[in-house]
Amino acid sequence: MPPASDDSSAPDVGELTPPTRTLMGPGPSDVHPRVLRAMSTPLVGHLDPSFIEIMNDVQELLRYAFQTDNQWTIPVSGTGSASMEAAIGNVVEPGDTMLVPTNGYFGGRMASMARRAGGEVVEVDAPWGEPLDPATVSDALAEHDPDVFGFVHAETSTGVRQPNVPELTAAAHDHDALVITDTVTSLGGVELRVDEWDIDVAYSGPQKCLSCPPGASPLTLSDEAMEKVLSREEPSRSWYLDLSLLEGYWGDERAYHHTAPITNVYSIREALRLVAEEGIENRWARHRRLAGALKAGAEGMGLEMNPDDEYWLPSLNAVRVPEGIDDGEVCDELLERYDLEIAGGLGDLAGEIFRIGCMGYSASPENVTLLIAALADVLD
Ligand code: PLP
Repeated sequence: MPPASDDSSAPDVGELTPPTRTLMGPGPSDVHPRVLRAMSTPLVGHLDPSFIEIMNDVQELLRYAFQTDNQWTIPVSGTGSASMEAAIGNVVEPGDTMLVPTNGYFGGRMASMARRAGGEVVEVDAPWGEPLDPATVSDALAEHDPDVFGFVHAETSTGVRQPNVPELTAAAHDHDALVITDTVTSLGGVELRVDEWDIDVAYSGPQKCLSCPPGASPLTLSDEAMEKVLSREEPSRSWYLDLSLLEGYWGDERAYHHTAPITNVYSIREALRLVAEEGIENRWARHRRLAGALKAGAEGMGLEMNPDDEYWLPSLNAVRVPEGIDDGEVCDELLERYDLEIAGGLGDLAGEIFRIGCMGYSASPENVTLLIAALADVLD
């Protein structure tokens, strides 16, 4: 051990001791111990032959989780917003029109990113707490003739699962629009079939149903979408997220673009290995089963779910805040007394809903039992 410094100007910061929480909010979710273990293994270089193998594994495992054969399937270095911006910032070219939804917070983020990419944004409306109606989407496609249509499969701000995805993609393709789908809160937890549902581009995050720390975020593009990206007249406005440059690293060449976040790649590899071991359909069924118990428990104590059962999102349960209850106080009390994290609503649903995640490793009988007992106690 080197001798302790006698430099009195050095900050005296204690050892890192974060509290042990149970994470049942809108993400991140609890991380599986095997993933934490993978993150404490030694680094290799990002061009080390062993790391190239690891990259191949991650790509193969991601294709399985997305249910796609897309060659262009990678973890983007950064959080979910990075894979989101890689999708939108590359597919939307200056002058393109992108159709985005208004029924939640993340549709709004799609619009901001499309504008920054130089696109023109047009909207398809639905209230917060409801999915898009395929007929309204068809009308908007006919009216605006967009180049790109984006929608959110699992809206974390409202707890709504967008049904009828194949109908939406078929309508978009009838109008020659490419489809970008936000699958941040569905990948690995809620039925998602990229190829069968004809989704052109899907992006996600690792910290929700994959139960992996944020840092390497899944993205997949069809050949057709990648063709649009590779034939752009002007390069994407972001150098870091330019997929035509990233192709050099994640494609056949494996040439340096940026130093991959090695530890995050290890973590997503292990998280995806857990998905493959469980089987994707079993995993979707586990989320439905345990979130179903959570929902039944909440309804059993007289609480009401915000979305209709038809669009219930197992990974994010939007429960209405009862009359006279302050959602912030309930969240604070659950954290203080039970070390249990849930969240309140935001945007149009601020103060109206609790957002209770049931994702990945957090979707367990122990967590659901704790959540129901603790919520009943705090609301008593
Ligand atoms: N899209 C959805 C649906 C999300 O829930 C989130 C994050 O919660 C994001 C995008 C952005 O991901 P991140 O916060 O990891 O950047």
